Amino acid sequence: MYRREVTCSYCYHSGHNKRGCPKYKEHEASGEVPGHRKLAQRKCSYCGETKHDRRTCQPLHDDKINSILANRQWIQLVLRDCEDNGLGLGALLKITDPYASDKFNLAMVIGFEWDNLFIKYPTKGWIRVKNYMGDTNRQSFFYEQGLVSFRDEHCPSKVAAHRDDSKWRDLKLQGTLADNARVKVVSGVEQDLNKVAPGRILNGGVGIEEWFKDRTSSEFHNNY
Ligand SMILES: [Zn+2]
Ligand SMILES: [Zn+2]
Repeated sequence: MYRREVTCSYCYHSGHNKRGCPKYKEHEASGEVPGHRKLAQRKCSYCGETKHDRRTCQPLHDDKINSILANRQWIQLVLRDCEDNGLGLGALLKITDPYASDKFNLAMVIGFEWDNLFIKYPTKGWIRVKNYMGDTNRQSFFYEQGLVSFRDEHCPSKVAAHRDDSKWRDLKLQGTLADNARVKVVSGVEQDLNKVAPGRILNGGVGIEEWFKDRTSSEFHNNY
């Protein structure tokens, strides 16, 4: 297949472009390139520095490690709170109707949507329940599956709210699920959730790559 050869806009020879031009490099090193002919410096799309790109960015690497450690720590705190309060497979929950506080239904924990257990989305439903609902007046009964989470109680404390994952050792939960007004454990189970959860989740890495995709460092504008 015929490919047109590139012509250098700096020295007008063919076979390379300006960024790869030996003359340009030579002139740039000796400071002979006039301002208007200078190449725009490439910046790392994560931190904004010029000496490297995103692929080799050390701050990005460090931030990812800290986020993995923060996520790992947060998951441990959530699982421990669940264990302390009897929330596990087979536990029975009482779920109050958010629109009518005198109405409730019972639901059984039938599984976990582990990929939803992620520190950056701490209110996302991850506990799979089966609701058993009925209305004797209307003679209507039905089952319904859904996902619940303990919302504010399981949000990370302020440290993580400021997204400073490097402080993962200080991470705490805002509360305990026992304080949740809507979802109550009415019949708990004893369970080691570290044995129920998959290793890849306990490790803390799930969701991290996706979270950092297209994201910029908080330092980005300082470097720009
Ligand atoms: Zn050239
Ligand atoms: Zn960088």
